[in-house]
Amino acid sequence: MKLISACLLGLLCAWSGDDRYRNNRAVELSRLEILIPVCPEQMGGLPTPRISQEIQNGTGVDVLNQKCRVINKNGQDVTVEFIKGAEETVKIVRYLNIKEFIAKSRSPSCGCGQIYDGTFSGKLIDGDGVTTALLRKNGIKIIPVEDL
Ligand code: SF4
Repeated sequence: MKLISACLLGLLCAWSGDDRYRNNRAVELSRLEILIPVCPEQMGGLPTPRISQEIQNGTGVDVLNQKCRVINKNGQDVTVEFIKGAEETVKIVRYLNIKEFIAKSRSPSCGCGQIYDGTFSGKLIDGDGVTTALLRKNGIKIIPVEDL
């Protein structure tokens, strides 16, 4: 059993409210083994569709350490929702004793290895999203969806 970013399975939880992040390899894998879909941004209380968001001047680890914030494109602070979504995700992982997370790349929540730099210009920096950072801290193996 593995945890997976829900949007990769085609659930309509992306910020845009469509299935733009559906990934065929992830869908195929869901036919072979149990995948538990989570959308940390929804679980943190954010609506769908929602304004796109990026971590400002840092990474998911920095957000967890209260060194930077997550801001949406309208300038609203959504840090509280991002942290709540990450904490709710960890609760699921512990409850089901899950050890691996298949992560959507570049997201400020689920991103692994690289995320957008906070300028809403498409530029990337090294680092994880908030939920991925908390999962990694809790010993969960992170699998980028590109590695499926
Ligand atoms: Fe997908 Fe994660 Fe963003 Fe939800 S928070 S839409 S699961 S990348």
